[in-house]
Amino acid sequence: MAQYDYLIVGSGLFGATFAYLANKHGKKCLVIDKRPHLGGNVYCEETEGIHVHKYGAHIFHTSNKEVWDFVNQFVPFNRYTNSPVANYKGKLYNLPFNMNTFYAMWGVTTPQEALAKINEQKKEAVEALHGREPANLEEQALTLVGKDIYEKLIKGYTEKQWGRKCTELPAFIIKRLPVRLTFDNNYFNDAYQGIPIGGYNKLVEGLLTGIETKTSTDFFVNRTYWEKCADTIVFTGKIDEFYGYQFGKLEYRTVRFETETIATQNYQGNAVINYTDSEIPYTRVIEHKHFEPENPAWNSEKTIISREYSTEWKDGMEPFYPVNDEKNSALYKKYKALADNEKHVIFGGRLAEYKYYDMDDVIEEVLDRYDPLFNF
Ligand code: FAD
Ligand code: UDP
Repeated sequence: MAQYDYLIVGSGLFGATFAYLANKHGKKCLVIDKRPHLGGNVYCEETEGIHVHKYGAHIFHTSNKEVWDFVNQFVPFNRYTNSPVANYKGKLYNLPFNMNTFYAMWGVTTPQEALAKINEQKKEAVEALHGREPANLEEQALTLVGKDIYEKLIKGYTEKQWGRKCTELPAFIIKRLPVRLTFDNNYFNDAYQGIPIGGYNKLVEGLLTGIETKTSTDFFVNRTYWEKCADTIVFTGKIDEFYGYQFGKLEYRTVRFETETIATQNYQGNAVINYTDSEIPYTRVIEHKHFEPENPAWNSEKTIISREYSTEWKDGMEPFYPVNDEKNSALYKKYKALADNEKHVIFGGRLAEYKYYDMDDVIEEVLDRYDPLFNF
């Protein structure tokens, strides 16, 4: 008899949600994480009373009421509405692409004028497709919003973020961004949106209450031992690493954060400013205090900013974004075929499924797939 029903490798939202459900159904769980803290990428570090999103800005948004109610039972969320601003060579544009953006870009003041301008801007690209679907991100962007917006607000940012030409990137990445003919700067279309009051650690603490955890513990350092300690392993690390990179390494993008405390109450007036030209080396600047205006630290004369530099992932770095291009997708399929034959290992989350999951997707996936399993 193994000591635990489940060994959960990784305490991010996939692992923590799985552990919560299993524990609730009387299963004995151990959660291990190689980092010195729990929570995976949503972990926040408190500095000057401000909750610094250590692995990049995280805004929770969902249209799934079950997921929203689920997270709110552990910590109340505020109503933070993400409204990033793009800075292109010193000129500011609201995001996502909406009437404010079109006004700043072309001086158009009505939806009809904006639509006419967009149609004119995308005409050439639409004709060049001859009725087929856009095959890459450049084609998708040009046929969605046209030339000016593509060149000023998309091309530089996307190529910095992904380190690849827009013509080499999949079209779906840009479909995440809404295009609206209203003066609405809300970046997301979802019904629910916010930040946990007091930071994401409260959510993770709530999920993992009463569950045994070990941090600074890498599964691969003592793999044979860990494999014996539980009936089933829930693996949320890198799938290619799990299989010893036998078919080769999957590629990731990572982000280097340059975080700085500044002696001013309000540095940039917004949580997120994107730098969309190709000359400025960072993609965006996050001012963390704006995520929680209800926090008393919002009024202090200090603020914390992080500049984000996107780079190619190498061993020893944090793998953040899977690169879902053709080459990597084909490689992932080979690992997935091995994973499908495992009887005692569950693979889940951004790294194990090599998938661009948002937080709510990960939670939804666990609730949909595994809650019924425990109930039978
Ligand atoms: P992770 O949070 O990555 O957790 C995996 C855990 O496994 C990590 O803690 C890792 O240390 C651990 N681990 C890996 N290998 C091992 C091992 N060998 N042994 C032990 N432990 C191991 N989503 C949103 O909804 N909104 C946002 O605004 C948003 N912004 C984001 C910004 C950035 C920069 C990034 C990278 C992601 C963002 N996301 C956002 C996505 C969000 O972070 C993920 O959906 C979520 O964190 C996925 O959870 P996970 O458990 O799959 O992975
Ligand atoms: N994007 C862009 N300009 C911007 C912001 C985003 O071109 O100012 C593109 C970019 O290709 C990015 C995609 O839109 O990869 C999705 O952006 P989002 O902010 O949703 O990505 P995240 O970094 O949160 O995963």
